[in-house]
Amino acid sequence: MILMDLCSPRTIRQLMEEYQIAFRKDYGQNFLINPAIPARIAESCCDERESVILEIGPGIGSLTRELASRYKKVVALEIDKGLIPVLKKTLADCDNVILVNEDVMKTDLKLLLEKETGASPVSVCANLPYYITTPILMKLLESGIPFDYITVMIQTEVADRLCASAGSPEYGAITAVLNYYGTAKRLFAVSAGNFMPAPKVGSTVIRIECFKAPPFELKDASLFFEIIKSAFGQRRKTLSNAISHLFPMLTKAAIGEIITTLGHRPDVRGERLSSGDFAALSNALYLAKNSVK
Ligand code: SAM
Repeated sequence: MILMDLCSPRTIRQLMEEYQIAFRKDYGQNFLINPAIPARIAESCCDERESVILEIGPGIGSLTRELASRYKKVVALEIDKGLIPVLKKTLADCDNVILVNEDVMKTDLKLLLEKETGASPVSVCANLPYYITTPILMKLLESGIPFDYITVMIQTEVADRLCASAGSPEYGAITAVLNYYGTAKRLFAVSAGNFMPAPKVGSTVIRIECFKAPPFELKDASLFFEIIKSAFGQRRKTLSNAISHLFPMLTKAAIGEIITTLGHRPDVRGERLSSGDFAALSNALYLAKNSVK
């Protein structure tokens, strides 16, 4: 048992001095200094204690230890090689932690987790580096790995987007895309004073419950994502104007008719459509485009 409070600023400074390392802004390093928070994140990240947890960015290991004491195994991916000797010390007594010194964006997660999880359920838990929040979330969602939950601390502004309802100002392309893979729920907010160094933005922990199967059938998944991207890329335009360039074989009137047949106003904007609405629209447009000779 390591008798070290990893959330104490004094301990963090001592470890950094001992291993001659400094906080790396370029890696989004803001370490938690309130022990109640990693405990609360770990407690709420997953219902199944037999799960394997993928942690991205263990830092000096405060959340990792909380996860290791609750779940079957933790696979912790840390990009900063300067932190690896620190983690080897702070996690020395955690037999169920696999430490991997890699960039999550370059790691074949499927291969790594297949090797480490076997038949166990798998979830993600992380205090994410904010400079790459969206790419990491998209990589996790698109990975095809059957995660039960993805619980992450992210900047509040992104959390607001991910948890938004269709039609609200925060609702965006990422919300519609996320809702194809799962549903996001806000767990709790964490103020900047709970980190060292303190970030300039507020933070919120969210939990994404991942769907076991796609919530709707897509005739062409890439068309679905393209339509969402175009609909939000030009937010001021009506939906039919924003997506018409994707369908040069269809007249604007034909696209407009499909939109109204699906129950929307002819001048509807993309931000009013739910993920399911986009699925119905992309399937109808797929059929229309393929019926044109
Ligand atoms: N988990 C620790 C905590 O809560 O105190 C540290 C969280 S800190 C916000 C983000 C961590 O992610 C840092 O340890 C950083 O080095 C790591 N990180 C940044 N980019 C990464 C990447 N591409 N792949 C893996 N880890 C990364």
